[in-house]
Amino acid sequence: MTTGSAAAPIGDTDLAIGVDIGGTKVAAGVVDAQGTVLASTRRPTPSHDPAEVAEVVVELVAELRQSFEIRAVGVGAAGWIDRDRSTVLFAPNLAWRDEPLRQVLADRVGLPVVVENDANAMAWAEYRFGAGRGHSDLVCVTVGTGIGGGIVLNGLLHRGAFGIGAEMGHMQMVPGGHECGCGNAGCWEQYASGRAVVRAAREIAAESPEAALRMLGGRQAADLTGPDVTAAAQQGDPAALACLEQVGHWLGQGLANLAAVLDPSRFVVGGGVSDAGELLVSPARTRFRSVLSGRGHRPEADVVVATLGSAAGIVGAADLARS
Ligand SMILES: [Zn+2]
Repeated sequence: MTTGSAAAPIGDTDLAIGVDIGGTKVAAGVVDAQGTVLASTRRPTPSHDPAEVAEVVVELVAELRQSFEIRAVGVGAAGWIDRDRSTVLFAPNLAWRDEPLRQVLADRVGLPVVVENDANAMAWAEYRFGAGRGHSDLVCVTVGTGIGGGIVLNGLLHRGAFGIGAEMGHMQMVPGGHECGCGNAGCWEQYASGRAVVRAAREIAAESPEAALRMLGGRQAADLTGPDVTAAAQQGDPAALACLEQVGHWLGQGLANLAAVLDPSRFVVGGGVSDAGELLVSPARTRFRSVLSGRGHRPEADVVVATLGSAAGIVGAADLARS
């Protein structure tokens, strides 16, 4: 079902559709040149069949075009997209392997289509319309189950030579550390993501169950989720606060590493775990400032929470399609 304005601004060619393909749902929205979502719609992601996923995208675009004249379609997907923004090289959760998604969709919808990594799309949205506005050297870190990221350098989205840049969650932070789904061990996302929040909480529950009573709230430790920990921390639970502080510490460590290389003026922290807000970002900032190379003798990037929320993927993909 489409939600939002039913007005049809016929002749307005500044409108683009952004599509966010996630592991559980495909969301699409009509976005204007100011980054405002005028209407949106969504469906569950159908199985892991690439052809069915493409079909859902085509249907959502057709649904939105009933009410709006559209100039282009931008698609954000969790995967490695080639530099030409056309082929999904690899998408771990969607079974795409060298899928020519841009051509498949463009042939079906009859509009220009670009395909972009979802974290890049979110970073672009925060740069253009959100917490990163005005910062032409910006790093956006999406802290969800894992860590995604996007980098804006000199006002341009940095894709790398092969288009698969900014997979910063897989920087190695702890040699010989926790195994990661990427095949390596000790990756940043094993220490500074939603998965790390849950791991820290379960460790506390195993080591000192009485300290974890409030955070557990009658649940078994194995049933704890990241949002449970965040909710308990927001109520002042010391064990939950300790989990977020530990994860924030690792987040700040990685930001300092990125600052040493990229020297951005701002870091924007988004994704589901950023719902914890300052409870996560404050310890990250503390660690960042304590390990930043050349600290005290250089300007420091600030670290802020993203402002566009879950719409960022749609807004960013649409804007990239228009530009
Ligand atoms: Zn990894």
